[in-house]
Amino acid sequence: MTRRTWNRRDYCRCTAVQNWDYDEAAKKLRCFRRWLEDNISRLPHQKIGGSVAFCDCELALIQAICSVMPPGVLPMSDDSGQEQQEESPVSELAHIRPAGARKRRSVG
Ligand SMILES: [Zn+2]
Repeated sequence: MTRRTWNRRDYCRCTAVQNWDYDEAAKKLRCFRRWLEDNISRLPHQKIGGSVAFCDCELALIQAICSVMPPGVLPMSDDSGQEQQEESPVSELAHIRPAGARKRRSVG
């Protein structure tokens, strides 16, 4: 088993550091700065000292988190992977018991 060291910023594809503050991020996302502040614990971001910063990848993740896709817009991916197992006639017969064959177990 290969244990991969997880990089906190695996998702980040930035080749150079370019961070946005609350105001800039809100402007880019077209959302309220207040909403970012209120939900910051649930949003990907950087915490540098007492400041919060976002790179474009984090903004893209926020975008993804907040994306709403009504059913039927995208073709359903068929990844259920569940095969309907047909019950064989034999196992069905196994459930059948002759009437009155049930005997009471004596408790002791
Ligand atoms: Zn990035």
